Amino acid sequence: PKIVIAIDGYSSCGKSTTAKAVAARMSYGYIDTGAMYRAVSLYFIQERVSLSNSREVTAALEKIHITFNHNNRTGKNETCLNSLNVEDEIRKMYISNIVSEVSAIPEVRWAMVAQQQKMGRRRGVVMDGRDIGTKVFPDAEVKVFMTADTYTRARRRQQELLAKGELINLDDIIQNLEKRDLIDTTRIESPLRQADDAILLDTSHMTIEEQVDWVIELADR
Ligand code: C5P
Repeated sequence: PKIVIAIDGYSSCGKSTTAKAVAARMSYGYIDTGAMYRAVSLYFIQERVSLSNSREVTAALEKIHITFNHNNRTGKNETCLNSLNVEDEIRKMYISNIVSEVSAIPEVRWAMVAQQQKMGRRRGVVMDGRDIGTKVFPDAEVKVFMTADTYTRARRRQQELLAKGELINLDDIIQNLEKRDLIDTTRIESPLRQADDAILLDTSHMTIEEQVDWVIELADR
């Protein structure tokens, strides 16, 4: 029987890289919930939506349609905002700088959580995020909570950004990670926390291969 694998944790611990590879090995779907909050953030910037105006926020959310598309040519997953591929844009630093504020807005969370539950209703998915094991799928069969030390996380994020042509110094990245973690753990609506039945995985000294094997072994039990 197909199950739901929930992978939550702090920013840049290797959640999405691991989740993607686990999904591929198990022939499961992969849902990057962070990409959805990033796409909403991009839309809010483009349309100059005032984050403190709940009427504006609600109206904007009704116009946002997020889908995931597998590009057969590049072999990559693309996040689409109203049918437009925004995959590269949403990974940029200016989005990382506001995404946690946007995702702390209750109306935004209600809309995204409902969509995520729909996407995983037939199970057979690996979902990564901050509140999958606590809110989106509290009944997930496998729950992993990932951590890693700040320096490791910052270096990994720096490499990712560099690969995409953005050179950001380590201090700025550390500041962004710590600020996001703080907002994510202290927001009112489904804050980031380890679910009681989630298993902790510290990836500081692990390779991606080891992380993937570890999760699959857990799922096989
Ligand atoms: O996973 P990623 O770092 O791309 O997520 C970007 C941001 O989206 C997080 O820092 C967090 O503020 C928000 N997020 C969330 N709930 C999720 C996934 C992401 O609040 N399930």
